[in-house]
Amino acid sequence: MGNDFNTLIVGAGYAGSIMAERLATELDQRILVIDRRDHIAGNAYDYHDEHGVLVHRYGPHIFHTNHMPVVDYLSRFTEWRPYEHRVVTRAKDDLLVPMPINRTTINMLYGLDLRTDDEVEAFYAERREPVELMKTSEDAVVAKVGRELYELFFRGYTRKQWQRDPSELHASVCARIPIRTNTDDRYFTDSFQQMPAEGYTRMFERMLDHPNIEVRLRTEFDDVRDDLTYDHLVYTGTIDGFFDHRYGELPYRSLEFELKNEPTPGGGLLQPVASVNEPDYDVPYTRTTEYRHMTGQVAESSSYHVEYPRSEGEPYYPIPNDETRALYKRYEALADALDDVTFVGRLARYQYLDMHQVVAQALTTYEKLATRLAAPA
Ligand code: FAD
Ligand code: UDP
Repeated sequence: MGNDFNTLIVGAGYAGSIMAERLATELDQRILVIDRRDHIAGNAYDYHDEHGVLVHRYGPHIFHTNHMPVVDYLSRFTEWRPYEHRVVTRAKDDLLVPMPINRTTINMLYGLDLRTDDEVEAFYAERREPVELMKTSEDAVVAKVGRELYELFFRGYTRKQWQRDPSELHASVCARIPIRTNTDDRYFTDSFQQMPAEGYTRMFERMLDHPNIEVRLRTEFDDVRDDLTYDHLVYTGTIDGFFDHRYGELPYRSLEFELKNEPTPGGGLLQPVASVNEPDYDVPYTRTTEYRHMTGQVAESSSYHVEYPRSEGEPYYPIPNDETRALYKRYEALADALDDVTFVGRLARYQYLDMHQVVAQALTTYEKLATRLAAPA
């Protein structure tokens, strides 16, 4: 008798759902997707809260990319609505200034009237510190803007978010945030910045709506791994968890989200832009995000998340530094030795990836797997 399924997929986020859709549609495989949560879409899951406001359960998810093949693929499952994310951060005396730091930020903060990119560049040049080896997140910021802006906007925020000083984090973490000399106040500058018109969950529903795909929610891999038969496994959970933490636990940062709602008679909004960052170390949360800015929904009340960084809880962020990289590499060697298991996604590859990067990774991983399956044994 044949196996129950050609492929078992652990995780119904981007990585798992895309692998399922591709294998079912292109190779006519029978697929079972399991997820321990009670919903699909992984960390991109959105839903209407008790006030009827569309919110993201696991914090604000803004879709942006320069890679059109990723958009073309997702566009099979969703329409889009334009949205460019904007963020302000709280500076001294409760002044809210644009983040990433740009010309307006500098002018507001220092009471200046810098008018050209060159003037702002000269302002940074006077303050930046020489850094020989760009290794840490502290290096990444002080080398561009100097210590004062680093202390004001990055140090406290990062220490809260990661429970580590920026000097103990890989440069890539803070280097995600550009430093600008112009007045562009958008958080991202990618050529494509749009949100799924009916939300992320609806997009995932369409992706998984295939006669060959079965989805079982509230299902933990360990509880079913010995009861099911399948030829291949696609695993998108934590790689250290897969190997029972044999070499020790890879660390992850977590968050607690407090969802709040306030009346907005006439459909108004509570904040000037979607996210207000709180860089002061003594404020226990990192940011507040008001969802209706992002979704364009008009309603008589508005819902927003307050984000508290946590050490315990859902594994949201892999922590990039030399030590974790070395530990991950040991797990990766175990993974590479398993021919019948494919590891893909943020947790399985222990990478700090945005949605568009996970989509691209899943599409490439599918192509490689399909080529392997097509090759004669
Ligand atoms: P996930 O979405 O984490 O999916 C993995 C799934 O596997 C989960 O549903 C989990 O329940 C399931 N699973 C794991 N282990 C098991 C098991 N043993 N048994 C059963 N099920 C299991 N990206 C952007 O592009 N823009 C943003 O604005 C953005 N904001 C973010 C904000 C936050 C707070 C976070 C945490 C992430 C953000 N991201 C953002 C990143 C984005 O969430 C990820 O890139 C994407 O969700 C990764 O998809 P994935 O499939 O790899 O993992
Ligand atoms: N960061 C900061 N101050 C800010 C915004 C970001 O110090 O106002 C740092 C922080 O360490 C954060 C990193 O820059 O984790 C990357 O920011 P991003 O907004 O990309 O974080 P994420 O999307 O992962 O929440």
